[in-house]
Amino acid sequence: IGGHPKPQEGSLKPASVKSIIAIGSGKGGVGKSTVSSNLAVALARAGKKVGLLDADIYGPSQPRMMGVSGRPASPDGKIIEPLHAHGVTMMSIGLMLDPDKAVVWRGPMLMGALQQMISQVRWGELDVLLVDLPPGTGDVQLTLCQKAEPTGAIIVSTPQDVALLDARKAMDMFRTLKTPILGMIENMSAFHCPECGHEAHIFGHGGVAAEAETLDLPFLGALPIDLDTRLAGDNGTPVALGDGPVAGAYAALADRLIK
Ligand code: ADP
Repeated sequence: IGGHPKPQEGSLKPASVKSIIAIGSGKGGVGKSTVSSNLAVALARAGKKVGLLDADIYGPSQPRMMGVSGRPASPDGKIIEPLHAHGVTMMSIGLMLDPDKAVVWRGPMLMGALQQMISQVRWGELDVLLVDLPPGTGDVQLTLCQKAEPTGAIIVSTPQDVALLDARKAMDMFRTLKTPILGMIENMSAFHCPECGHEAHIFGHGGVAAEAETLDLPFLGALPIDLDTRLAGDNGTPVALGDGPVAGAYAALADRLIK
């Protein structure tokens, strides 16, 4: 979370934002948005000033996961006021769009929307701005890495081979764009049966840690498949706000990032 305090000329990164961290995945549905919202909350609980930008153009889920709604205000038609939830300053492309309409945008439009969300939102002083990216390797990733000087990227994957296969492509893209990869997170790792305590590995076991080791990247941690995580996300109150074991795992993740 160190960041570069002085933005380069022409950079989209606001001067008041110390560090931008991109959260990416190869595939959709691996829990990238869930991890982003919980990590944002955990970093805020650890005393950091945190922003969360939902740039998942095709499936913006942060308004739901963070429990915010309504169109952000823009009194002068230029500066956009962010929303605040659970100690996190946030903005989502989903708040600017009709939730029932599909987004069919071309590259330049995507670039314009991302540009606005980074540089026209009144983010204020932030230690870190987490950017929840769309899955894969497209225009949003390209623009963010080339124009917003991210400190680095975090890759979320399940331990399943097909997810890891696509995660490798995402990491290759970040490497090509010279964005350092800060580490990998395994989501939907073990499932602990609440009835009998049995541990099942629905999507496999240890695949992300092994991949991180092969690629010589930090393994930041594993998060279980967990009913409370899903329910809390659906209710707009991320599980990291609580005091259970998953909240503890997110606090540990946040600690690793801060150090
Ligand atoms: P992505 O952003 O990668 O598309 P999401 O965060 O939207 O993925 O997660 C996809 C679905 O899986 C959501 O319904 C979410 O609530 C659920 N989910 C994500 N992580 C977990 C988890 N660790 N345990 C249980 N459900 C999860």
